[in-house]
Amino acid sequence: MNKNIYTVFEQHFPSSSDSVFIETVSGESYTYAVLQQHVARIANLLLAHGLTKGDRVAVQVEKSPQVLFLYLACLRAGLIYLPLNTAYTESELAYFLENARPATVVCDPCSEEMFARLGEAHGLRNIFCLDAQGAGTLMSLAARQSDMFTTVECGKDDVAVILYTSGTTGRPKGAMITHGNLAANGMALQKTWHWRQDDILLHALPIFHIHGLFVACHNVLLGGSKMLFVPKFDAKRIIELLPKATVLMGVPTFYTRLLDSPDFNRDVCRNIRLFISGSAPLLEQTFIEFQERTGHTILERYGMTETGMNTSNPVDGARVAGTVGLPLPGVEVRIVDDSGQTVQADTVGLLQVRGENVFKGYWQMPEKTAEDFTQDGFFITGDLAKFDNSGYIAIVGRNKDMVITGGYNVYPKEIELLLDEIEGIRESAIIGLPHKDFGEAVTAVIIPDDIEHVPDEKTIISQLKAKLANYKVPKKIIVLEQLPRNTMGKVQKNVLREKYADLWR
Ligand code: AMP
Repeated sequence: MNKNIYTVFEQHFPSSSDSVFIETVSGESYTYAVLQQHVARIANLLLAHGLTKGDRVAVQVEKSPQVLFLYLACLRAGLIYLPLNTAYTESELAYFLENARPATVVCDPCSEEMFARLGEAHGLRNIFCLDAQGAGTLMSLAARQSDMFTTVECGKDDVAVILYTSGTTGRPKGAMITHGNLAANGMALQKTWHWRQDDILLHALPIFHIHGLFVACHNVLLGGSKMLFVPKFDAKRIIELLPKATVLMGVPTFYTRLLDSPDFNRDVCRNIRLFISGSAPLLEQTFIEFQERTGHTILERYGMTETGMNTSNPVDGARVAGTVGLPLPGVEVRIVDDSGQTVQADTVGLLQVRGENVFKGYWQMPEKTAEDFTQDGFFITGDLAKFDNSGYIAIVGRNKDMVITGGYNVYPKEIELLLDEIEGIRESAIIGLPHKDFGEAVTAVIIPDDIEHVPDEKTIISQLKAKLANYKVPKKIIVLEQLPRNTMGKVQKNVLREKYADLWR
């Protein structure tokens, strides 16, 4: 049987072809019937340009319904979809093209020339354009294609999407996510969140990340339900639209920003069935304030690019502040000590995961993949966690050097390497410090060659901005004469984090 995830979606499309899939803030509306036509046309276009099963399609465009049609077309045609953060700069993109060697790029018209230049050396065959309004060569050429398409046969282990995640070494790794992973995780969430056809999702997340693309859109597609598509989070707009929705999915920053708005109240939330939070820790204070203001209890869940969603607080039953709930159906979660022994309740250990949801491995990095799995097939997440006596899991920290700012992951090594190249900087350490809005704020500590001649903060920041997506650029640079180190010479970032804990508070 064809395990292409598109066939699974199709089985759940509503029987009435007039049912709406997406409504945009500019008043456009696309039914499931229209979705299927666009998807078929784009799939035909891509195959007509010589792409074959397993070829990569890299996509760096603004959010629009047409991006989703493109995504579904890639799945349907057996092509590997490779979404890229819109904030990535030219030097970041050069690496992705070199590493993934996509056959096709779909980009905003204003970056077409850059991609043509970057792709020349890496076998890039076609570039199509798609702008923020959903117009461009992709859609105009697809319009000439047939709206009939036979979904390409895929096995459950065939790769559907490559999502890049950075690493502690600073080199991003392409997580290969299969058709089987997407189907298993999508169905587990449908069940756990009691998804309904009459649910209306308010979608304000980016769609180049697992949260906005898989968790949000797949639930809508598998539920045959509708979503209201907002280009990006804006508290005022969300407050206007909330009465028309039944579910909101967000990163914790969404919730703190809503609470900062005096117009956010119980009445605005009257039709909401579920407020879901993930991608970064939700503070207990936010959880409680939200309950007090709205009468709603935020449902927190936990997952990551490599595994999809692993745990969730329940819809029926207690949602416990500071916890990410219970393992999802079909997901095995264990917490172990350094020797691999399972720890008892209330003891912090390393969180490991096994199940159909867990990815196939890192693109062309078999050794790195092997390092991140145990002998018995559990993925080592790098998160530190503990179970309570009722089986609820709390994520208490990270064993990996990573900052999460506004829901985006930042890997310090990548920035430290760039800082260390700057003249006058001997060494550096990037840390995340508690910040009310972003959760954590990226902060740099630098050690200059000569404390009397410290490089200027503005110059450092502008040099980093030229090479890094904005969210990775430090919000502040702290100058020290030396970094705190342990007896093994390892930089003690925990000491720095403690010392500057109140910097943003
Ligand atoms: P990403 O791959 O971008 O989705 O990031 C995954 C990482 O985000 C996880 O490994 C965790 O460190 C963190 N994360 C995701 N959800 C939560 C949560 N609810 N609470 C704490 N950390 C989370």
